[in-house]
Amino acid sequence: MLRSFLMLSLLLSTQALAQNSDVPKARHVVLFLVDDLGWQDTSVPHHTEKTPLNERYRTPHAERLAEEGLVLRHGYASSPVCTPTRTAIHSGQSPARSHITYWTLYADQDQTTPWARKDASSLVAPAWDVNGLDQSDPTLARLFSDAGFRTVHAGKAHLGAIGSSGADPLNLGFDVNIAGHGPGGPGSYYGQHDFRANGRRGKPGKSVWDVPGLEAYHQKDVYLTEAIVEETCGAVRQAAKDDKRLFLSFAPYAVHAPIMPNKKYLEHYPDLDPKEAAYATMVETVDHALGALLSTLEDEGMLKDTLFVYTSDNGGLSAHGRGGERHVHNAPLRSGKGSAYEGGVRVPWIVRWPGVVAKGTTSDVPVISHDLYPSLLAAAGVSVPKDHVLDGVNLTPFWQGGELDREHPLVWHMPHFWGVHGPGVQPYSALRQGSLKLLFFQGDGRIELYDVAQDPGETQDLASERPADARRLAQLLAAELLRRKAQAPRIKGGGQPLGVMAALNEMQR
Ligand code: CA
Repeated sequence: MLRSFLMLSLLLSTQALAQNSDVPKARHVVLFLVDDLGWQDTSVPHHTEKTPLNERYRTPHAERLAEEGLVLRHGYASSPVCTPTRTAIHSGQSPARSHITYWTLYADQDQTTPWARKDASSLVAPAWDVNGLDQSDPTLARLFSDAGFRTVHAGKAHLGAIGSSGADPLNLGFDVNIAGHGPGGPGSYYGQHDFRANGRRGKPGKSVWDVPGLEAYHQKDVYLTEAIVEETCGAVRQAAKDDKRLFLSFAPYAVHAPIMPNKKYLEHYPDLDPKEAAYATMVETVDHALGALLSTLEDEGMLKDTLFVYTSDNGGLSAHGRGGERHVHNAPLRSGKGSAYEGGVRVPWIVRWPGVVAKGTTSDVPVISHDLYPSLLAAAGVSVPKDHVLDGVNLTPFWQGGELDREHPLVWHMPHFWGVHGPGVQPYSALRQGSLKLLFFQGDGRIELYDVAQDPGETQDLASERPADARRLAQLLAAELLRRKAQAPRIKGGGQPLGVMAALNEMQR
């Protein structure tokens, strides 16, 4: 009996190995990164049940990805704001390690200073990497380019500050850059405005927010997302013509503010608040872009050999600028963009990889944006430089149906004020291990503990009820922040605030 069991185990493990070695390498890799797209902002349920928000949004092409791939319902962004998640994707390092902990704009200037001055707290943000990624960094695009891929960036880059090398995607390993630069929002979504901020205000003149390139669409009735995808499909066809492997980073500026309707879809949302109707048309336009991209890849015979990942860089905007009640646009998750709570960091995640990822499946195993760096490279058979320290883990064995072997917990670290107020929108560090999530708010030393599998809305703080878990996870968080050399915030006038363990000792005293 024992012998036959051993034989069977041997047979199974040999089969598993054979299956692994038979796994096709992805010839092409597409990262479809929507901006500020919330966890509920598609018609693909990421919750255990379909929600009213899933009913509201029209995203049939995202549904197709889900039907043909894997929906990761506990997929996270590396940060609740733009740049830190984007740079984590393209570097494989968490913001705690890279010190790119806030959004970038101008080289050598700290964007966070004016916000901190406005806040009543005694906290001051620490020094951070205000320039973002640099031309010397071993970015995803650099490694794909060195491996012979055609590397194309389209849309919002926001990977490096204006005046630094990383502002231009061409300095970060991309062969082609369609409309990407340093700033993280578009001046306008309308071709009639030349995609300029002043155009939106009916005025002449330039600003840093004006979308570069795309002059062929100026003064035309074209929505920005449509112009970007039209150019992108051209670049995809050119890669096919040149018989190149493709790495495409497609990142529409949408659905980031300014919230401007794509008027041709407004008739689909007659009963919504006008702002929310406008937002829904932006979501729908992104989905049309997804459809155009999928059919171009299909027409060129590339889609069957493509690893396609669909996700977002942070939770949906909810603290300002949206219609209706605030802080509920990611319901049942709590809060939204900028927040430590799930609404700030839990985002859509869909993976389509024909012949490898099982069709129509879901998983509740947590994953995070910086996992994409080792995963996309491994899927394509491109090596990570040996001396490059990673926080992300290679998800490809897990995507193939195996276990996810993660040595370290997921960690978030944003020691900054975002400038807008809302639940959990405070300087914080957090970790998730298993179903538990521990949050440490640096300003007031508050520690909260939630079981986010049972309680995705983070309504029941378990920190007092489960003191041993709180202590274990606080110790782990302190150790992880130290291991990643995360920067600690400071107190106005000098000194450092309570660390996570000191705060816990205060709480449990
Ligand atoms: Ca964003």
